Amino acid sequence: MLPDLERLIELQEIETRAGAAARAIAEAPARVAALDALLLGATTALAAAKQALADNQAARRSIDKDLLSAQQRQSKYKEQLMAVKTNDEYHAMQHQITAVGAEVGQFEEKVLINMMEADEVNAAIKKAEAALKAAQAKVAAERAVIEQEVAASQGVAAECATARAGVVAAMADKGIVETFMRIAKVRGTAVARAEQERCTVCQVRLRPAVFVNVLKNDQIVQCDSCNRILYFVAPAKPAAPAAPAAPAAPDAPA
Ligand SMILES: [Zn+2]
Repeated sequence: MLPDLERLIELQEIETRAGAAARAIAEAPARVAALDALLLGATTALAAAKQALADNQAARRSIDKDLLSAQQRQSKYKEQLMAVKTNDEYHAMQHQITAVGAEVGQFEEKVLINMMEADEVNAAIKKAEAALKAAQAKVAAERAVIEQEVAASQGVAAECATARAGVVAAMADKGIVETFMRIAKVRGTAVARAEQERCTVCQVRLRPAVFVNVLKNDQIVQCDSCNRILYFVAPAKPAAPAAPAAPAAPDAPA
């Protein structure tokens, strides 16, 4: 194979690796931000659950105060009932006692509802705490993985830069590197394998005269359709048929 063609294939491998490493590095901040958002969501949910408990407790204090006030009025009316002098006064007081009794009942019911809400809110807090803990563990683990991947990708990027410089320096025809870069910029990849008279990347059929030249691998040939630099790899020879049960002759060619 033409040494420059071999170098271009190598250069493409380097560029593909470098591209993947660059993408991994570029995608890392968004991945970290997604983890941060997950953590923020869990933290916010716990804060909301805790606020719901504070609201529930404040409501309870208010109900207790109202209940106590109603109970105090109830006691006062009962004392006053002992002191009434007329039948009318007695009925009026009885009426007030009934009314305040209903009020006490309503506040007692509110206390019960508030207590049930408190149970639900406490359960929600426990659940939110567990979710936050799980999110923290997941975020810590995934953040470590991302950091490792970024460090590895930075290593790959540095390796690729060195390898690229070496391949470019060795290239006999410097102009072909420019062609390579121009195609790579537009197409993503600049080199394509040809097979069965086709460019395997754009799938366009090559003219027989072009394919004949590609088969030789001794010159730079570009695909008429996608412009990629073409090369040919002879298909692997099919494996020899399996030997019969009898042992193969010791001098059989490998
Ligand atoms: Zn093509």
